[in-house]
Amino acid sequence: AASDDVLLETRGLTKEFGGLVATDDVNIRVERGEQVSLIGPNGAGKSTLINLITRRLEPTDGDIQFKNSSIVGLDPHEVVQRGVSKSFQTASIFPDLSVRENAEIAGLAAENGAFDFKLLTHRDSLTDVHQRARDTLEAVGLLDSADETAADLPYGDKRRLEIGIALAAEPDLLLMDEPTAGMSPEETNATVELIEEVKQALDLTFVLVEHDMEIVFNISDRIIVLNRGRVIAEGAPEDIRGNPDVQEAYLGG
Ligand code: ADP
Ligand code: MG
Repeated sequence: AASDDVLLETRGLTKEFGGLVATDDVNIRVERGEQVSLIGPNGAGKSTLINLITRRLEPTDGDIQFKNSSIVGLDPHEVVQRGVSKSFQTASIFPDLSVRENAEIAGLAAENGAFDFKLLTHRDSLTDVHQRARDTLEAVGLLDSADETAADLPYGDKRRLEIGIALAAEPDLLLMDEPTAGMSPEETNATVELIEEVKQALDLTFVLVEHDMEIVFNISDRIIVLNRGRVIAEGAPEDIRGNPDVQEAYLGG
């Protein structure tokens, strides 16, 4: 593939916490249009890797290229503006506002780094914002609930709104860290269905951290396996399933 197709690339990405190496010389690539799952036992460094990409953590060493330019040194909101969104953070919902307002604010915030009320005085951009919020709510199946207060949504719809908020930024890359953590089997199924829907509707590129192997094997076209901060295997689901190194990592702890 041409380098234009490479959306995300980490080079020698290393994060140390005191003496502990949480990610150790990690080199991964994600191409546009790919659905990648990041797996590995507890403490493997998955969340650290995600938080390095969103710039919530500063790397000890190495680089992160997004659309062929380094994002190390950028603020988290600048990374969002470049096209990286992280989903399923309940904190991103404004509970007292309507579903529609949540989607509108998310779109505005992504464009401008922070929500700015002055923007609402520009008629053109306002039309734009309304349309984008509509599209987003349609993509996550919440158009009929647009006027409801976010706090009143049933649990499953709140998850839909969370992913809608991430998508309102029109990200090139969506990051998801254990979106089904703490969910009942029904909620888990609904969330997986939602990710499938959105993936098809938007041709989304994503990196998903998920511990449920059935979900991982079904939803991703490539899997990256981390253990003790290092990439120990990488490939299509059918190659990872029987990989002895991967099995040992999970059994060995
Ligand atoms: P995973 O998400 O794969 O379970 P993490 O990335 O959360 O793993 O953690 C990787 C390692 O880094 C673990 O040993 C964890 O205890 C350690 N770690 C993560 N965050 C911090 C932190 N803020 N301070 C110190 N150690 C951390
Ligand atoms: Mg984690």
